[in-house]
Amino acid sequence: MTYEIQPAGSHYIDGAYVEDTAGAEIPVIYAATGERIATLHAATPAIVEQALVAAEKAQAEWAKLSPRERGRVLTHAAAIMRERNHDLSVLETYDTGKPLQETLVADATSGSDALEYFGGLAASLTGEHIPLGEDWVYTIREPLGVCVGIGAWNYPTQIACWKAAPALACGNAMVFKPSETTPLCALKVAEILTEAGAPAGLFNVVQGMGEVGASLVTDSRVAKVSLTGSVPTGRKVYAAAADGMKHVTMELGGKSPMLVFDDADIDNAVGGAILGNFYSSGQICSNGTRVFVQKGIKEAFLARLNERLKDAVIGDPLDEATSFGPMVSEQQMTIVQGFIEKGVAEGARLVAGGKRIDRDGWYLEPTVFADVTDDMTIAREEIFGPVMSVLDFDTEEEAIARANATEYGLSAGVFTSDLSRGHRVIGQLRAGSCFINSYNDAPVEAPFGGVKMSGVGRENSKAAIEHWSQMKSVYVRMGDVEAPF
Ligand code: NAD
Repeated sequence: MTYEIQPAGSHYIDGAYVEDTAGAEIPVIYAATGERIATLHAATPAIVEQALVAAEKAQAEWAKLSPRERGRVLTHAAAIMRERNHDLSVLETYDTGKPLQETLVADATSGSDALEYFGGLAASLTGEHIPLGEDWVYTIREPLGVCVGIGAWNYPTQIACWKAAPALACGNAMVFKPSETTPLCALKVAEILTEAGAPAGLFNVVQGMGEVGASLVTDSRVAKVSLTGSVPTGRKVYAAAADGMKHVTMELGGKSPMLVFDDADIDNAVGGAILGNFYSSGQICSNGTRVFVQKGIKEAFLARLNERLKDAVIGDPLDEATSFGPMVSEQQMTIVQGFIEKGVAEGARLVAGGKRIDRDGWYLEPTVFADVTDDMTIAREEIFGPVMSVLDFDTEEEAIARANATEYGLSAGVFTSDLSRGHRVIGQLRAGSCFINSYNDAPVEAPFGGVKMSGVGRENSKAAIEHWSQMKSVYVRMGDVEAPF
């Protein structure tokens, strides 16, 4: 190993690395080889306390700066991140196992987009003047205070930045807990923010499992919790936050539909299905894992898909030619294998993949099931792995009804060359982040988030500002106060 992976401390608090070996050991395993590449420790209560105290102090100082000054720190951090994209991408690959071909364009780049966007927006976050004749009301957009971010393991840099950038732009401080599976990348985000001029304590990283997250969520000093994770965790975190009447953003799981009509450009639809099922080895919340294909083109779609799967380059994630890497962990691979077995047992037709790849690390083949029916486990439950379910349909009405028959509502996509149909169908699909003739684009300019069990609140875009700030209204009376007595 030539690359330095072990950080100077497990946590990053008050502008510096901190260690407390009394915390439970967190081994960091490189998914492509199964080797341990670093060892971190979960935060003890003393570490969590240190982080919250530092955040509270920094927030008071940060909120006093002009929004333009705050924005300048974020845009500076964006520039540093972009400059170091290569090293950050290599680290992201070690942390997650995702191919460098992806991490070079989707992680630190997306993180720096968020820092740049919200840094640019900071100075334009103003209140309103509301005339009431002689009197008036004005509003002030205020920060919430100390916020907590809790991350999933699939996009550790992006998740940290998608939460930190709008939070900090609005004048908040953050304590961020990465997933215990991918604890490394957020530490680099913290380092870069310090280097860019953020006050010590503004963005702190504490490591740990669920208990550490839970201790942050229940702390009375915390004003808001933003979680990216699964629905079961979301339920627990939302309930705990409700007890303290805290603001929440919940970015949770999905079982999103992609509808391919018989007038669609088949290559584009197949491309969308590949992106929406196999990018990051299928470990993406918004994936279109239920691919509804109109009966007339079903066999042509499957044939083209099979041809294109042969072009997947499966191998060493650090080789830029590799386009398909391992699952993040052995545990996740085992979960996905269980779903594949259920698919076969429940009668779906396995048309590609299905097996573990014979090499070190946690590699599964890109897997496609056809003739999947709505009641099968693989069509109902989030798999979070490289498993595509292809279902057939006859009519538009039927496809919409079946696409909506899920408790989730994160994303949805439509492939058709009939523009009216594209908009008509998307208008009826109950999902937060949708695509027409495309899949899984997530530019920072667009709101991102789900409906139904997939979550509450929105990340990215101007919409995120509403979730990281609050309005104070001030009534100003110009005349005398008239009281009844
Ligand atoms: P997870 O729910 O197991 O864990 C998410 C985070 O929550 C981890 O950091 C974990 O330590 C923490 N956590 C667990 N229990 C907690 C508790 N009681 N209190 C506070 N924190 C707790 O999810 P995961 O396996 O890391 O990630 C995969 C899931 O994340 C999938 O369901 C996926 O769809 C979802 N996800 C959603 C989005 C989105 O933006 N909507 C993005 C990526 C992943």
